[in-house]
Amino acid sequence: MFNFDYYNPTRISFGAGKIQDLDKLVPQDAKVLVLLGGSSARKTGTLDEVKRALGQRESLEFSGIEPNPSYETLMQAVALVKAQQIDFLLAVGGGSVIDGTKFVAAAAMFDGEPWDILLNWGANVTQAMPFGSVLTLPATGSEMNNASVVTHKALKAKLPFRNDLVYPQFSILDPTKTFTLPERQVANGVVDAFVHITEQYLTYPVNAAVQDRFAEGLLQTLIELGPQVLRNPGDYDIRANLMWVATTALNGTLGTGVPHDWATHMIGHELTALYDIDHARTLALVLPALLTVTQAKKREKLLQYASRVWHITDGSDDDKIAAAIDNTRNFFEAMGIATHLSAYNLGAEAVDAVIAQLQAHGMVALGEHQDVDLAMSRDILTLAL
Ligand code: NAP
Ligand code: FE
Repeated sequence: MFNFDYYNPTRISFGAGKIQDLDKLVPQDAKVLVLLGGSSARKTGTLDEVKRALGQRESLEFSGIEPNPSYETLMQAVALVKAQQIDFLLAVGGGSVIDGTKFVAAAAMFDGEPWDILLNWGANVTQAMPFGSVLTLPATGSEMNNASVVTHKALKAKLPFRNDLVYPQFSILDPTKTFTLPERQVANGVVDAFVHITEQYLTYPVNAAVQDRFAEGLLQTLIELGPQVLRNPGDYDIRANLMWVATTALNGTLGTGVPHDWATHMIGHELTALYDIDHARTLALVLPALLTVTQAKKREKLLQYASRVWHITDGSDDDKIAAAIDNTRNFFEAMGIATHLSAYNLGAEAVDAVIAQLQAHGMVALGEHQDVDLAMSRDILTLAL
């Protein structure tokens, strides 16, 4: 196992009815800006519940943070924060609203052009406003991590940043808030969490027995509960377990002391920036192809994945790896998520366009060995056609 530092200051308040904890968690004298997506929190009653819990605190709302939050929209929130002298941010929504709030928290206190935060992967963030979240869509883990992904629409660039100053102070996870999710978003959440786990697990062995077993348990939970939630969308226990899987998939524990890949995410971000395909859907396009192309260097972990996650015992080692990749693809397809670019009417021209974007953004040495260069990304995307 590699040496590691582990730090995670986010308090989790989990369970039905937990939104009322806001009264304890938000400072009494805070002037709060509630950040929202399009309309779901208003329609579902979650916003009303949040406002009731905030009680007498002075609060304003900023709505309109879009899926794949844009720099352009978030800068409007930054202006509001400054004009209204807001001192606490509260994200109410999915990963996009929480990621967007992280950017606002950092950008509102940043000297200079805030897009530079993205260009520096967050290394230049020295202060950020305090914030918390009420999660309505289990998927990204953003509710308990220090990462955020922001899209610059004019530049067609979707870039991530990380900084310990943008961990939420707290996140409220009420599984009943996920009952209103459309099936498409439920499936997206399962697949995003799945790929967060594989990015930290399907690399090369470093004798990290705890992290491996933890990853395998989370993957098996998703494989078991993913199809179940589609059949029984009103089942609280399934929702609760999926919510906690998605958080633990990317709250840092799983990724301690192990190599990380993240090539699937970086290639996927370009597909979203260019073609507006949902985040998780881009991952389902890239991962099976990436595992096929990079299987020589991932061989030991792929065999472990085949055996421990999918219980594959028959055939040669090559057969087992092929079967594990097939099972992964079939799992995504069973969740209603396509694994070929042709499903989005994209062909060879899309491969060229994504490669040009990866080059423009310096994404030329991806993966746990930094050997996923543009030629290998091209092979991966071509296989995904
Ligand atoms: P999302 O973009 O936050 O939300 C997707 C849609 O779901 C929105 O249209 C939203 O509607 C709706 N929605 C949310 N909660 C709902 C509810 N309870 N009922 C009904 N509809 C609801 O989706 P996401 O998958 O959570 O976030 C994706 C973003 O996170 C991407 O930009 C991705 O790159 C990023 N990401 C971040 C991390 C990280 O570590 N920080 C990791 C992976 C991905 P409204 O807009 O109307 O609310
Ligand atoms: Fe993701």
